[in-house]
Amino acid sequence: MGLIEDKSARRDQRGNIDPWYNTKGRNDGDNLVYLSVALNGACNIDCSFCYVDGSRPGQWNPDDLERVLGEARELGMEKIQLSGGEPTLYKHLFRIVEYLHNAGVETLLVTNGTTMMPDMAQRLHDNEVIVGISLESIVEEVDDGLTRSPGSFQKKMEAIRILKGVGYTEDIPLNIIVKTLKANQNTFLQTWQWALDNGLQPILEMKLGNCKELNMLYLFFTMKDVID
Ligand code: SF4
Repeated sequence: MGLIEDKSARRDQRGNIDPWYNTKGRNDGDNLVYLSVALNGACNIDCSFCYVDGSRPGQWNPDDLERVLGEARELGMEKIQLSGGEPTLYKHLFRIVEYLHNAGVETLLVTNGTTMMPDMAQRLHDNEVIVGISLESIVEEVDDGLTRSPGSFQKKMEAIRILKGVGYTEDIPLNIIVKTLKANQNTFLQTWQWALDNGLQPILEMKLGNCKELNMLYLFFTMKDVID
């Protein structure tokens, strides 16, 4: 059975659509269940809150990465998050995505959405990749202000439209990831409601202190976690 058919596997113990990292209840000893990999450092936008420093030239050699992923699979890996930088700029993205799909690993791609094209969306869907788009606010000026990239909000909206056009939200979840920042706090609820109204699962990414100092110490919640 493919991942798409087994929809129950996409829900956690509370009934949330399983967003990405949710391995609650899956800590079964020494097995590696979940892995997070930054494929590359490069990005096409310039978020004020970005945790990636410097000129960001690095990227994984795909041969090395496949070897690591193979070892992780042997250790029990079932889920993986692919991020960056902006992972859609990684030129070996679909080699890795197809490798993971063939290995039966549930893959979650975290993207800013601004490079999404119909053929890319179709290939992601074909490989049953769950997508999470970073969207700090449904208010255009707020989101564009945080990305310091005018026009990026509209590209994200277009990405959501393209992804829904190939089936996302119907058979594969489409998430938006909202970080807790001062600049967007007044629009949280508006953004959340918009996401739910559009069949998207909002994920709250809660930053604890200075993420650069804390080495990316983040907490991730679905809204139901917050309400509970
Ligand atoms: S999209 Fe991600 S990697 Fe790119 S600048 Fe924003 S936070 Fe950094």
